[in-house]
Amino acid sequence: MHDLGSDELKEVAKVFKGPILTTGNQVSEFETKFADLMGGGYALGVTSCTAALQLSIQALGIQPGDEVITSSLTFLATASAIEQAGARPVFADVDPDTGNLDPDKVVQKINKKTKAVIVVHLYGLMCDMEVFSKICRERKLFLIEDAAHCIEGERGGIRPGQKSDAACFSFYATKNMTCGEGGAVLTRHASLYKKLKLLRHHGMSKTAFDRHSEGYRRWDMKQFGWKYNMDNIHAAILLPQIKRLKKNLKKRKNIASYYNAELSSVPGIQLFRIPEKTIHACHLYVIQVDSKKRDRIISCLYHEGVEVMVNYNPVHLLTYYKKNIPVKSASLSVAEKIGQSVISLPFYPRMTRMHAAHVVKSLKKAMNAAI
Ligand SMILES: *Cc1c(COP(=O)(O)O)cnc(C)c1O
Repeated sequence: MHDLGSDELKEVAKVFKGPILTTGNQVSEFETKFADLMGGGYALGVTSCTAALQLSIQALGIQPGDEVITSSLTFLATASAIEQAGARPVFADVDPDTGNLDPDKVVQKINKKTKAVIVVHLYGLMCDMEVFSKICRERKLFLIEDAAHCIEGERGGIRPGQKSDAACFSFYATKNMTCGEGGAVLTRHASLYKKLKLLRHHGMSKTAFDRHSEGYRRWDMKQFGWKYNMDNIHAAILLPQIKRLKKNLKKRKNIASYYNAELSSVPGIQLFRIPEKTIHACHLYVIQVDSKKRDRIISCLYHEGVEVMVNYNPVHLLTYYKKNIPVKSASLSVAEKIGQSVISLPFYPRMTRMHAAHVVKSLKKAMNAAI
């Protein structure tokens, strides 16, 4: 549940008073502030994380015939972005303790066609970027982060965007920072940033804002590109949220601590492990239960008025991917087992202790009912 309000409305009103509704000052301001927030690099506002991932793959020169290794325990957009870029997704299995990609399983999938790895920081827990960047550096592979869950995350002092070629973020309705629909790419490489910027806007050398500020100049289309530029209205909605991020993370952490305390010793409930020296971005709060009872527990929770979700049914089991990217089920057995066991509990900054207590009570009831 979002927490947008008068601060965002004020910023949007400023856009309405100016002449530029599309990509302009608010987008530039957001990009600068977002890069600062993440500890440096170049940020580029786009229309979604899916677009951010697709553009990153293409800007790195990955082409049809190439393979990109990623997790199956993710939202399908991670895999679909690889296909949108013309490449082929290859799924590697995950670590049973965290749900994040297992580095050894990734190495097993590398072959001559492999060009990149996309790690997914699942639920807000960063993958071990030291390990993945070493794997990719040694084999001359690109490393991209799907950081849709992980704006605030940190592990061993490393944050998203600091060890990869590009980190991709989502500002979709349910994410920790949102403008309804939006996304961003963060990269440390100036040359990649330039390529991304061209690809974001039709491959055009000038934007509407350039023409407005510089007067009419002849522009050119240097290469094929897409229409994925973030506009000022969406950027305006994001600006005030940068300031709220820390406070909201604290609120999420409080709810997570409450859930942990109440649930960690309930028989039949298993929590994911959080490695040391980690700041969890607390995007989702996910528990695991007996896979044979999971769906019944979810129905019981709905009867109690508790809306829960499943993050995720593994991508390789979705009908489209089953048909087009067939994989031997055994090779992704951990992702499948987690996919059958997980329940995401209600979790958002404005959540009251009373609501959280109701969730816990209903969950305990559902656990007893679903035998
Ligand atoms: C939300 C999400 C995406 C897609 O983000 P959009 O901005 O909706 O394109 C990609 N990957 C993960 C892990 C997500 O949760």
